[in-house]
Amino acid sequence: MLMKVQQDMTDANHDEGTPVSVKIRERLQAAKRRFHSNDNIADFIRPGELEALFEEVTGKMKGVLDSMVIDTENDHNTGDTARRVAKMYLKEVFAGRYVPAPAITEFPNAEHLNELMIVGPITVRSACSHHLCPVIGKIWIGVMPNEHTNVIGLSKYARLAEWIMGRPQIQEEAVVQLADLIQEKTQPDGLAIVMEASHYCMGWRGVKDMDSKMINSVMRGVFLKDSDLRREFLSLIPRRS
Ligand SMILES: [Zn+2]
Repeated sequence: MLMKVQQDMTDANHDEGTPVSVKIRERLQAAKRRFHSNDNIADFIRPGELEALFEEVTGKMKGVLDSMVIDTENDHNTGDTARRVAKMYLKEVFAGRYVPAPAITEFPNAEHLNELMIVGPITVRSACSHHLCPVIGKIWIGVMPNEHTNVIGLSKYARLAEWIMGRPQIQEEAVVQLADLIQEKTQPDGLAIVMEASHYCMGWRGVKDMDSKMINSVMRGVFLKDSDLRREFLSLIPRRS
């Protein structure tokens, strides 16, 4: 009995010293789940662990500042920077990795709506996964419902977009992830998404071009087959800046 207790304590001590990120990573690997920068891992984070992750990232960010030879002890401007950046990454700009999908109530299409519906512009804020530089832009969503399509409130499109964009992203992959999610939630006959965004990694660094924007689109279902519908959608999007 005594040995058993000692064994348990040893396990507890071992567990204590293991970074929470390692525990979460082990669960992801055991489940054979991908954990790229734009994947959501909320299902693998247990209650209280996000707080522990915040402490862990704070410590690592402090290490980055130390390695950049910034005197965080005496510099009143950077004393709390590690904690602020950790909070910004985990709980603000990249929260879309760590929190579950927003609860969206889907309603049956009682009115049998079957006309093209366009939502936008929705402001999107993300960051590129190459440099973690901001990506800020707008998206327009076109939905071609059928009588079986679920209806969701207009503001819900923005909530879904925020969740997908709140991860280090690549614009091309972000719009596909968003299209997959909206397709799954609403099951329309057709879905079209256009995203236009400024990539700050091009303005702040690199070619230092502040004006260039990246535009891309995803077309699904009838938008792929029907060029008139596609043209109608694109012509109804207000003139982009
Ligand atoms: Zn970049």
